[in-house]
Amino acid sequence: MTTEKGSISIHTENIFPIIKKFLYSDNEIFLRELVSNAVDAVQKIKRLGALGQFNGEVGQPLVEVKLDEKAKTITISDNGLGMTAEEIKKYINQVAFSGASEFVEKFKDAKDANEIIGKFGLGFYSAFMVADLVEINTLSYQEGAEPAKWTCDGSTEFEISTGTRTTRGTDIILHINADSEEFLSQYKLQEILDKYAKFLPVPIKFGTKTEQEEDGKDEEGKPKYKSVEVDNIVNTTNPIWTKAPADLSDADYLDFYKQLYPFSEDPLFWIHLNVDYPFNLTGVLYFPKVKEDFDMQRNKIKLFSRQVFITDEVKDIVPEFLMLLHGVIDSPDIPLNVSRSFLQADSNVKKINNYITKKVADKLGELFKADRKAYEEKWSDIGLFVKYGMISEEKFYDKAKDFALLTNTKKESFTLEEYKEKISPVQTDKNGNVVYLYTTDPDKQDGFIQAAEKKGYDVLVMNSPIDGHFVSSLEQKLEKTLLKRVDSSVVNQLIEKEEKLESVLSEEQSTTVKGIFEKAINKPGYTVEVVGLHPEDAPVTITMDEFMRRMKDMAKMGGGMNFYGNMPDSYKVAINGNHKLVNKILSASEEEQGKFAKQAVDLALLSQGMLTGAELTAFVSRSVELI
Ligand code: ADP
Ligand code: MG
Repeated sequence: MTTEKGSISIHTENIFPIIKKFLYSDNEIFLRELVSNAVDAVQKIKRLGALGQFNGEVGQPLVEVKLDEKAKTITISDNGLGMTAEEIKKYINQVAFSGASEFVEKFKDAKDANEIIGKFGLGFYSAFMVADLVEINTLSYQEGAEPAKWTCDGSTEFEISTGTRTTRGTDIILHINADSEEFLSQYKLQEILDKYAKFLPVPIKFGTKTEQEEDGKDEEGKPKYKSVEVDNIVNTTNPIWTKAPADLSDADYLDFYKQLYPFSEDPLFWIHLNVDYPFNLTGVLYFPKVKEDFDMQRNKIKLFSRQVFITDEVKDIVPEFLMLLHGVIDSPDIPLNVSRSFLQADSNVKKINNYITKKVADKLGELFKADRKAYEEKWSDIGLFVKYGMISEEKFYDKAKDFALLTNTKKESFTLEEYKEKISPVQTDKNGNVVYLYTTDPDKQDGFIQAAEKKGYDVLVMNSPIDGHFVSSLEQKLEKTLLKRVDSSVVNQLIEKEEKLESVLSEEQSTTVKGIFEKAINKPGYTVEVVGLHPEDAPVTITMDEFMRRMKDMAKMGGGMNFYGNMPDSYKVAINGNHKLVNKILSASEEEQGKFAKQAVDLALLSQGMLTGAELTAFVSRSVELI
């Protein structure tokens, strides 16, 4: 074969400097692109063999990455199907774009290298991000094929001549440019291979490593060892997500989890994804133990395309509420050179997202049905996902309403349906609304909880970070249902009933009592009211209205309700007209009246953790005096 020179068919002077300049930040992906081309080539020859279109020896498939620091080259070799000179011209030279103007036009808005490479099928050309001279040395599997060699120095000029390869396959030799010498490091290449090639389906060899091998026995009969050099294969070719769930044990799943996240605690459970219509997707998603530090746990799902790692930014593929999950997703329908803007636009991505939501919901439903007790034990960890999902995805809510749990102060758990049934008889108000009572802090709100429970009411514990939103969303979704924090009003006003307990005080006495307490409190933001409660209920109760408190909580969380956020706190002080202390105050001397009232109010504040600082000190000395 004579040496042939020619031009790569791009109708512009030179695109390579542009590639280099624009793609610099992502340039490590050259190795991903070239190694996956090599893997493709190996898989193609296997397929040709299986189809009977190639009758030679397929042999042991292997891709090898070699570093020569002295020569400043990186070589990617495979024993795949190889290329003829004609094929090089066809597949390499005719870069797949219709024209330079289109290329430059699209380039302007490109956000990352993946987008450009993906759009223009530039996988192979990513080599020029790090090399100023690239050689292809290849021998095709076709009978009578001549070895071919292609060289290109990064201009649009190339040269094809007879090559030197004697066995089937391809070497891609990169002469690393001065700006990219960081890649001439064993350590660096190993790191990149670990990132992108760890689960490729063909063995990837990178250098050698030493292993201990048994070497006879010593005088005492103990085995002796010697160091031997063995191929360093950087990948696992059959990761568990490519296998059938029936062939895997729990230990396999846990081992894989440890391999992905070496320092993590064991996950709670996992879901094996496997679908081939209307899109193709496999993977394993793990539910981790939730930690305080959410951000640390985000972005742990790895996205693969035919076992090539792509990204751990799976934002659009995995529903937002499942972003704390761990594991892998592999879909050939997500192209290798995927980019953010592509993901947002792709219709498969939305379908995948829906599929994952459904699978997670089904799995949770299954766990709930199979072993309710075990499920309840895991609830403190999975509750966060479930609640988040119920708030953010209608479809998930529809499934999760059957296995979401509500837990009360006695640590009993109920489904929504069960709970409604349980409390309806006692906790329905005069308008027919079922009133769910909840506490955000069982310790602080203990007085209110006890009062409610004494009345036969049940109190739910809603103390996780997401519960504020969960409460609002339940109220919207459940018909004729109100949720009230247990300290949002005095106990007999929490659930408004037809019959009302009246205060035994006369109107005049009520006014007097109100005046005494107003004087004793003497602070803005407190409104005093005399009400008729059970004689055994607390003499004084201080509450903040449910609506007001929720608005303030939201303002605190940056919900934008600044109107409420800026309003001073306002409290209701309810005096139990039926409590004997009120009688005592009415019949006391004027000086004592003030003291007793102040004492009673402070006791109420104290029991709610609202008495602090100088007021607390004054309370303590007044108490000592009273004794
Ligand atoms: P893609 O992989 O998306 O087809 P590339 O630019 O990465 O695009 O590669 C272009 C083509 O060059 C491949 O489709 C293949 O035909 C050929 N090719 C690249 N590398 C090899 C290789 N190692 N062995 C055989 N053919 C190869
Ligand atoms: Mg490619």
